[in-house]
Amino acid sequence: MHIAIISHDGKKAEMIQFLMDYKAILAQKKISLIATGTTGEKAEKAGFNVKKVLSGPMGGDAQIAAKVAEGNIDLVIFFRDPLEKHPHEPDISMLMRLCDVHNIPLATNPATAELLIKAI
Ligand code: PGA
Repeated sequence: MHIAIISHDGKKAEMIQFLMDYKAILAQKKISLIATGTTGEKAEKAGFNVKKVLSGPMGGDAQIAAKVAEGNIDLVIFFRDPLEKHPHEPDISMLMRLCDVHNIPLATNPATAELLIKAI
């Protein structure tokens, strides 16, 4: 199972806390994590094995969106910061749109992510 993790700067601490809270599930062999650059670096520092793509503003969200379109992602956990502006807003919209196009579960806040993680 391939899980993509992305978090905006204001949500990175929450993402790492989430990963730690669910480490027993997320560190299983059957699960592989892929992340945007900076989120991935922080997850690695927290002890997770993560494949990293580019940082979000440099195209990382678009790379993950492409993998969603290709059928290579099973779940997207994307902790967005709705109180900040983002230069890569078009890429973010594209990622969310492609999750809907391909019916891929997408959690955009910790409460939804918790429900999805408990279901796998
Ligand atoms: P980052 O990208 O993990 O490289 O910070 C996330 C984003 O801004 O979409």
